[in-house]
Amino acid sequence: MNLCDLFQQKKCVLSFEVFPPKKSSGVESIYRTLDELCALKPDFISVTFGAGGTGVKDNLTVELAGAIRARGVEPLAHLTCINSDEETLLGLLDRLEEAGVRNILALRGDRVEGAEEGPYRHANELMERIARRGGFNLVGACYPECHCEAPDPLHDLQNLRRKQEAGATHLITQLFFDNRCFYDFAEKARIAGVHLPIEAGIMPIVNKRQIERIVTLCGASIPPKFARMLSRFEGDPAALRDAGIAYATEQIIDLIGSGVEGIHIYTMNNPAVARRICENIATALDCVNGGGAA
Ligand code: FAD
Repeated sequence: MNLCDLFQQKKCVLSFEVFPPKKSSGVESIYRTLDELCALKPDFISVTFGAGGTGVKDNLTVELAGAIRARGVEPLAHLTCINSDEETLLGLLDRLEEAGVRNILALRGDRVEGAEEGPYRHANELMERIARRGGFNLVGACYPECHCEAPDPLHDLQNLRRKQEAGATHLITQLFFDNRCFYDFAEKARIAGVHLPIEAGIMPIVNKRQIERIVTLCGASIPPKFARMLSRFEGDPAALRDAGIAYATEQIIDLIGSGVEGIHIYTMNNPAVARRICENIATALDCVNGGGAA
């Protein structure tokens, strides 16, 4: 299925993100994780590619996308270009096609110091290449708090339009903890001529280690309310997990109430947390989608 059809069928799409396990010991458990996540019936599940500097060696992305499809859920495979040569990229596209994957989140990827860069320097260039080849629906990333390398939000939005012009059919945001950032960004994106559906990326924070790592990696701002919650519960893992789930739930209900076109949950491969959030948001999703949602 082409993911762009989903946005015609539903007022608010629900999707998950998973990442391939880093150690070989995690390979078995990822399939149980997929069983549990697919049972929650999201509209699609995306699989990251080479995140954390693992680069193009990380070919489990194709395998996991195929496994998601085999479980009856539409997969979205992430694909980065900055450290890949033409032959590797085209080979990956062939493998994705063979695995029945029809949707690609086309990304530049993070620059790795000293690593050789490939022929495609930005996501829109990768999208143009994939569009020339044909066979895939394209999705792009966007940044409510501005991408860290952009000189300012206006330039970042102008660059975002390049993804639309290159054929992206919807966008998924970087995670954020302050919904006002998303609303401001969505409004400015429309003014800048970006009319694609935008899914809001929400990461439930359920332990202290996670927050330190995430903020260093993506630079999301921490609203005072969220900072107070983290410091109040940091010594009690169960209380912090419950509070993190409640915070993400509140963010999502507010977004759905405000008319967001999609919610993308960064599951961190944790189906128990995803399940609790899905239970919490089920009536809100049913309400806007007329009863057919997860
Ligand atoms: P680009 O769109 O190329 O943008 C990068 C920077 O260049 C921005 O500052 C932009 O304003 C600017 N720019 C864009 N186009 C042009 C142009 N044509 N000319 C000049 N400047 C331009 N990383 C992984 O390694 N694996 C993953 O699986 C992964 N999944 C992600 C999923 C989501 C939803 C998001 C939001 C990010 C993900 N990332 C992943 C991280 C992503 O690779 C980094 O944020 C990367 O630094 C930028 O990727 P991009 O595709 O947005 O790049």
